Amino acid sequence: MKLSRYLHDSLDALGIGACEYDADMRALGWNGTFLQFFPEDDGLIYVGEPYGDNLLRFYQGRLSPEELPDIARHVAEGVARHENQTQPFEFIHNGRKLRASSLRAPDGGRVRLWQRLDVESHAERAPELVLPIIDALPFIPDGASILDAQDRVIAANDAFRRLYDLPRGTPVVGRTLDEIIAWCWRDASPVGAWRAAISNGLRYDGVPFEIELPGQRWLRLIARHSTGGLSFFTHADITVAKRQQMELLEAQEALRRANAALAELAETDGLTGLANRRRFVARLAEAAALSQPVALMMIDVDHFKTINDRFGHLVGDACLKAIAEVVANEVAPTSALVARIGGEEFGILLGGMRIEAAHDMATAIRRALTLVPWQMHHADLAGVTVSIGLCVGEGPLDGTSLHARADDALYAAKRNGRDRIETSSQPPAPLRVAG
Ligand code: GH3
Ligand code: MG
Ligand code: MG
Repeated sequence: MKLSRYLHDSLDALGIGACEYDADMRALGWNGTFLQFFPEDDGLIYVGEPYGDNLLRFYQGRLSPEELPDIARHVAEGVARHENQTQPFEFIHNGRKLRASSLRAPDGGRVRLWQRLDVESHAERAPELVLPIIDALPFIPDGASILDAQDRVIAANDAFRRLYDLPRGTPVVGRTLDEIIAWCWRDASPVGAWRAAISNGLRYDGVPFEIELPGQRWLRLIARHSTGGLSFFTHADITVAKRQQMELLEAQEALRRANAALAELAETDGLTGLANRRRFVARLAEAAALSQPVALMMIDVDHFKTINDRFGHLVGDACLKAIAEVVANEVAPTSALVARIGGEEFGILLGGMRIEAAHDMATAIRRALTLVPWQMHHADLAGVTVSIGLCVGEGPLDGTSLHARADDALYAAKRNGRDRIETSSQPPAPLRVAG
């Protein structure tokens, strides 16, 4: 027995799904409404397909992972029901409540018919709202899904399946989003970052949230929660935008690091690695402006021109590096700033330090310089000495004045024969407040 095309179309017009089987329970024909009710069969059912294969597909989409091992039993029972069915029965599939009837044809075949009754219980409160939406799902270009009050999917479109890499036949209805995304991540080591995004995102209405899928894919979800307990979700692939955004953030971070490195470089002396004059001047003004003692030590190498002239510039450079190292070592336990101010001149800014401690430090530097193995740089280089000028004041002070007084003390040390420490007898000027 074979129903005419005309009859199939007529049943379509009534919104009744139809599928017929021959006496051997093989599919003979079906109508468009049947494919609408059972989208998992679309493109897969074929003339001659055994009913059992069709049922297998049906159960693959419905059984929970725990029930799946028993799928053969479910199919066998379904086939038996199909053979013996006399009464119509009702069930829910893809969010629709369907009444199925199965009529035995005179030749032993069967015609199965499905009539749509309603949707799942919670949707029954507003079926006139939900049914058109379920019917509209295939026309929504983004992934779209409808969830019940327990966050289980009651309907989803094909775009949804594609986004979550769910082949036809993979269970969707009855699953929570959490289960579906966990399924996507099944082969990956547990990351679970999406879990927080999901549980957080489910709480808000109309607020987009993002979840990551394996393969560095990103989806943006927006939920609208109805008063009836249903939630409508759209799922959009934002991988391209997200990648661009991440690349932009990475580029910005690289730029920030490069800028920081440049700023550091702009305030660093190339030969010794100490701070340069620029940083020294800036920090001097800051430190002097505080209400605390501040000491400034200026160090100038004695007869350095002679070292250059006798042993060459390279030896001169090596001496400057050695002196820088000695000074930095002596100052290291404090938070003082050591800078190469220019040529063979160094400055040490000692915030919070009083004259005795500053003088002790200057003495320690001079002593440490006598211990440097200068012959290492040139066999005839017996030693290198420095002259040191000190000035200490009680902040807030004028930094420039503090600098000038320390310089005066340094020149006094030179005048008085070099290789010594002199302390400024003049106090630095107090900080003048503008206005
Ligand atoms: P004084 O004891 O009076 O300070 O005598 P001095 O020879 O050290 O002073 P002067 O200022 O006449 O000479 C400083 C020399 O330092 C001159 C300059 O060539 C040299 N110099 C400056 N910068 C560098 C540098 O980076 N490397 C080397 N090797 N020499 C430098
Ligand atoms: Mg000098
Ligand atoms: Mg000098």
